[in-house]
Amino acid sequence: MSCSCKQTRWVHFAGNSAFWLNRAIRALPQLRSGLAQPLITVWLQVRVLPGPPRTSISYSLFVALSGTTAPDTSIFRSNVRFALHFPRLRYPSQQVRCRLYFAYCDHLRVQTMKPITPTQWGYLKRYQRTLDSKECLSNRFGEGGCDGRIIQGHMIPRSQLVQIAEQGHVHAVPTRLAPVAQMKRSGFQAEDIGISNFSTLQCFCARHDKRLFAPLEDTALTFTREQLTLLHFRAMAAEVYIRGNAEDAAANEGRKYLSSDPRREPFYEAFRIHSLAAIAAEEDFKRTENMINLSRYDEIRAAIIRFDTTPVLLSVGAFRPLYDVIGTKLQNFSEEAAYIGMHILSVDKMPAVVFTWLKGQKPSQRFAKTFSMQPYRALTTLAVQTAFEYAEHTCMRREWWMSLTKGWRALLLDRIEMANRAASVPDEDFLSFEFPLDDWKCRSIDFVK
Ligand SMILES: [Zn+2]
Repeated sequence: MSCSCKQTRWVHFAGNSAFWLNRAIRALPQLRSGLAQPLITVWLQVRVLPGPPRTSISYSLFVALSGTTAPDTSIFRSNVRFALHFPRLRYPSQQVRCRLYFAYCDHLRVQTMKPITPTQWGYLKRYQRTLDSKECLSNRFGEGGCDGRIIQGHMIPRSQLVQIAEQGHVHAVPTRLAPVAQMKRSGFQAEDIGISNFSTLQCFCARHDKRLFAPLEDTALTFTREQLTLLHFRAMAAEVYIRGNAEDAAANEGRKYLSSDPRREPFYEAFRIHSLAAIAAEEDFKRTENMINLSRYDEIRAAIIRFDTTPVLLSVGAFRPLYDVIGTKLQNFSEEAAYIGMHILSVDKMPAVVFTWLKGQKPSQRFAKTFSMQPYRALTTLAVQTAFEYAEHTCMRREWWMSLTKGWRALLLDRIEMANRAASVPDEDFLSFEFPLDDWKCRSIDFVK
């Protein structure tokens, strides 16, 4: 089966664990529902490597076709199970390699999606306007004292961005609503973004931005307790700002419909999700702000992982870890959920991955600990996956991105596409390092207690 346009693309996911297959299974309804019928076929190839009890075997089989009309993925799932049954039973799992091939067609994908209507454009514009609301967060919880206009503050400092930029541009997946709406039709892609436009938020006035972050901007990054507190503060500020605005935007749209109107439901759901996150983020933000106001940094905790190579990726974000790195459940999304800040920065022209959290936040501590306990060669892959899963402000050097395999790029973009749905929740196996995507050569891990 193929599309007559001959633009069929094959994407494959390889692996010998359930991780890859689960990822692929989850991608299937997305390919089917979101993109009408661009999915032409899915193949599973199973290969058993040579070794006892016998030499190699290899077979391939169809597991799903575009004509499959089942509303869920149960048929696909049972086909995959069946295909895996034989080698699982007889061979040690490290001997079994699986590749899942998707064939889909960009031509069909574009053709079958309805264009964005003027009404939808109007809605996107309105929604974006609320997301871009200007507000100095120092004023929201603090004593005020704002001065100057609200500025476009960089979440990742410019001095960092220039280190991975090529001709003034970094490579990143756009985060604004209009390009995201387009990409939901044409496929998620990274593109060149000018560094003055990357990772800016309007959440501090000129005075507060300058005064608060001077110890980060004007002195070398050595991860003093003060600098770690400020890094955490900035990541939390971004989360408070983004979640608060998303909550407002959802409420504004939802109010346009009667409570009995089913069109109200998705906005109500988005409102609920963002407001839970906003409450938890504000608690953390207030505690951190209090430390800064008192110039006492005793409640900050951190894990600092240093690498030995040229930086190729920068990222800043804060998230509520649901699972640790080995898949143990840490907490639920609630008003009290603990946040962790993640910062991939360049220090002395080499990468450092820093996790920050506050004293007493056990889930965050547990996440950072299990992360740090993984083998050194796995840490780069884990850090990149976490950044793509959670951090909205992630950018890279174009050359590095293009050097990744097609399969890895597809997987990472898939993470962003999933994360772009309000209701998306990561699952326990969201991190994997069976196939390293890069190794920046970890040289040390330090904890700040
Ligand atoms: Zn201010």
